[in-house]
Amino acid sequence: MPKTYQRIVLASRPSGWVTEENFRLEQAAIPEPGPGELLIRVRYLSLDPYMRGRMEETKSYAEAQPLDATMQGGGVGVVEASDNKNFAPGDVVVGTLGWQEYCVTDGKDLVKVDPNLVPLSTYLGPVGMPGVTAWYGVNEICRPEEGETLLVSAASGAVGSVVGQLAKARGCRVIGIAGGPAKCSYVVDELGFNACLDHRQHGDTRALAQALAKVAADGVDCVFENVGGKCLDAALARVNPFARVALCGLIAGYNGEDIALQNVRALLVMRVKLQGFIVSDRMDLWPPALAELGKAVATGTIKYRETIAEGLEAAPGAFIGLLKGENFGKQLVKLS
Ligand code: NDP
Repeated sequence: MPKTYQRIVLASRPSGWVTEENFRLEQAAIPEPGPGELLIRVRYLSLDPYMRGRMEETKSYAEAQPLDATMQGGGVGVVEASDNKNFAPGDVVVGTLGWQEYCVTDGKDLVKVDPNLVPLSTYLGPVGMPGVTAWYGVNEICRPEEGETLLVSAASGAVGSVVGQLAKARGCRVIGIAGGPAKCSYVVDELGFNACLDHRQHGDTRALAQALAKVAADGVDCVFENVGGKCLDAALARVNPFARVALCGLIAGYNGEDIALQNVRALLVMRVKLQGFIVSDRMDLWPPALAELGKAVATGTIKYRETIAEGLEAAPGAFIGLLKGENFGKQLVKLS
């Protein structure tokens, strides 16, 4: 057991694109768990786009990440020592462990998971928060019917890949939008989507909407929006009457880019129902979603892909890469 551990803190708030200078790597003594607490060795960190929003002090659904504090974030780890009757050494847990090698917590937000059911890392991906996000948006907001067409952006990513596979299983025609030929091929050939458009090949809303018209001749009934900007705008240009839009993310604008929409009129004339949602709003959905997703991943019905950075010091670079689309599937950091 080492005496010290490393953690990454938020050193400064970004203006525009995040840089490595916004983070600081620190070393500290591994704390002893106090009464009711437990010490966890973190195995995988989850890097998620929502952290970009928390790096700023803006009005939002969650408090801003404090300066000079350990970066918040989900992780999976193993209990090393425990003074908490609900946890024993060796338990595998998922929760807000932060960007650090060891974590002391009261265990209130932790969930014990079975490492024999599915690979440990998937508890941060398809069998974790991103999977539940997909399940929530598909089943509670899009509510697709058999034969309908669903469009999802960031289609090869942690959330998007699950969205498309859930919608296929419900008998939909599924179209993805992703960046680059490798991601588009993966989405169609391995995940079974009907088509995938490369947003890098279609420079503006008009070009993307024209490409969408070719693969969605009968229009789009459901949109699961992860990106915003021209992806959402092109989708609105093709929506059918009474379409449902699950507004999950707007990553195209997270670094301050202009993501204003041109096709707002479609919301009215096509009587579109658009709902923004945050996965933590509906904790009641997590158990049924995780039960279905765990089974689907264990049996190979839901496929997934991961990009794994090695070592805590790689986290800032991997996070910046995630915001630029350099990840392919769920972005994780593996700690030794
Ligand atoms: P991903 O694994 O999909 O990674 C992010 C991807 O976004 C990148 O790989 C890139 O894919 C795409 N992207 C980034 N910038 C752009 C751009 N300008 N134009 C088009 N695509 C872009 O991340 P997640 O699956 O974890 O998250 C997807 C979305 O869901 C995010 O917006 C996130 O904030 C949101 N989210 C929302 C939740 C909620 O509760 N509402 C919960 C979890 C996630 P590509 O190379 O294909 O362009």
